[in-house]
Amino acid sequence: MSNQRAKLVVGNWKMHGRLAVNAVLLEGVVRGAQALPQDVRVAVCVPHPYLAQAQALLGGSRVAWGAQDVSVHEQGAYTGEVAAGMVADFDATYAIVGHSERRAYHGESSEVVAAKAQRALEAGVTPIVCVGETLEERESGATGQVVGAQLDAVLAVLSADEAARIVVAYEPVWAIGTGRSASSEQAQEVHAFLRARLAAKGAQVANVPLLYGGSVKPENAADLFRQADIDGGLIGGASLKAGDFLAICAAAAAGADIAG
Ligand code: PEP
Repeated sequence: MSNQRAKLVVGNWKMHGRLAVNAVLLEGVVRGAQALPQDVRVAVCVPHPYLAQAQALLGGSRVAWGAQDVSVHEQGAYTGEVAAGMVADFDATYAIVGHSERRAYHGESSEVVAAKAQRALEAGVTPIVCVGETLEERESGATGQVVGAQLDAVLAVLSADEAARIVVAYEPVWAIGTGRSASSEQAQEVHAFLRARLAAKGAQVANVPLLYGGSVKPENAADLFRQADIDGGLIGGASLKAGDFLAICAAAAAGADIAG
């Protein structure tokens, strides 16, 4: 059973791309996205140096763009950091915060992720807050505890009105880049849990977009997007091929149509 919320599909390019290949990819996505039903929103989150390129090539199209991280700081002596306000200067709609690769390789705690979400909101950028459990955590029955604590840390620092402006992405760590997606049932179970957690923050928070991420492909997207609490996807590897990414966007449209 799908739902009435519009679908959102966001590509996460990670640290991939160069100017020339980006141009081909972005132009392909813009062209293909024209054929998608209006109730599917599409975005790509690019490496910081390519925000200007995304702005130039996606501006005026129906494809939005965003960054993959922002600093916890507004400005200052933080060499190599990129502030949310800088991302906003390039008209970015979104910034991913708390991706599991940042948590794992850069030691980002949930409190750091919460501060990043705050900085993004202050700059007028929608944070896509990633949560997810490792395989060990899932196998020990700790999934709810882990993702609940990750989400709660963010909700704790936001007002209900601010929380209503975030996007949440459930990305089981064991499914990212592994080719092994969560089953639709596994994903829906966690999404329903997260939805209840959001609803507890306030009625206006209950309907924030809840994306699933982790080895989404054209073959499994429709089944995932048909689930009651899955409002779209955060797409890694498959967002680097225009055809695959657009097929996933089209699957979101099909899921939305079933609801309608
Ligand atoms: C991601 O990096 O957010 C992701 C979901 O990657 P992949 O789709 O490649 O598993």
